[in-house]
Amino acid sequence: MPEGHTIHRAARDQERDLARRPVVVSSPQGRFDAEALVDTDRRAYLARIEAFGKHLFYHFEPGGIVHVHLGLFGRFYRRRSPAPAPRSTTRMRLEGDAMTIDLIGPTACDVVTPGQMLAITARLGPDPLRADAQPRHFYAYVARSKTPIGAILLDQSRICGVGNVYRAEVLHLLGIHPETPGSALEPAQVKAMWRLVVGLLRRGVEEKRIVTTRGLRLGKPRERVSRAESTHVYGRTTCRTCEAEVLTYSLRARTVHYCGVCQPLVEAGGHADRKTPRRSCEPIQPSSARRHA
Ligand SMILES: [Zn+2]
Repeated sequence: MPEGHTIHRAARDQERDLARRPVVVSSPQGRFDAEALVDTDRRAYLARIEAFGKHLFYHFEPGGIVHVHLGLFGRFYRRRSPAPAPRSTTRMRLEGDAMTIDLIGPTACDVVTPGQMLAITARLGPDPLRADAQPRHFYAYVARSKTPIGAILLDQSRICGVGNVYRAEVLHLLGIHPETPGSALEPAQVKAMWRLVVGLLRRGVEEKRIVTTRGLRLGKPRERVSRAESTHVYGRTTCRTCEAEVLTYSLRARTVHYCGVCQPLVEAGGHADRKTPRRSCEPIQPSSARRHA
């Protein structure tokens, strides 16, 4: 599933291609009610495109919003206009004078009212990529929650846009075990976590990929950092920081990757023993990684 940086980048790129002018809106597959938006020329004025976590909102004027969630299989295809005939599975086609965007396989693609949009965004936690994000909601939840921080980071109702790669890397960079209950973290750690997520996601938007390692430390420019070099623990068998084996287990049905040496489990009020991660958090399967999204 795409993480938040992919969705925000899609919003930015598609705005540049299509927004502030009329576009032809259609649903070749017929499963999306484009008729609700368009005039007799099948055109609608696309004012702006907004990302909120993993959700996209296309604001048409007058008064129509299209809500898109890519889910696991949704994808955008960008082509020069006039684009070739769409595939029959194209849920939504947005055709501008210069560029055409096809959307295939999303979990959601619906015309919603402003009230329905509000209901969707009200269920989401703060989005670190949005200027209007209110991290205090995240801080407050983490402080009172006994839920493992590894699960909180993937809970879109607590913080939105973080996926499996960023979760693994953020916890690693902060030296936090994924099973650590939220309430066991110091407020300063949680603030540092938010700042790190903001920084990494912003970088992901600019670079259109996830790189949490430092090119300088690898002795090469960032754009030449290979995929294998781009993370510390995610998708790896050994920890980039200490070379210990990367451990994995299933946390709420998603595989979490971490290093038991760099990220020891700290007992409440106690100190970490960096050499002996707690037994309950030892691996339940060998790290194989890359296929786990
Ligand atoms: Zn390590």
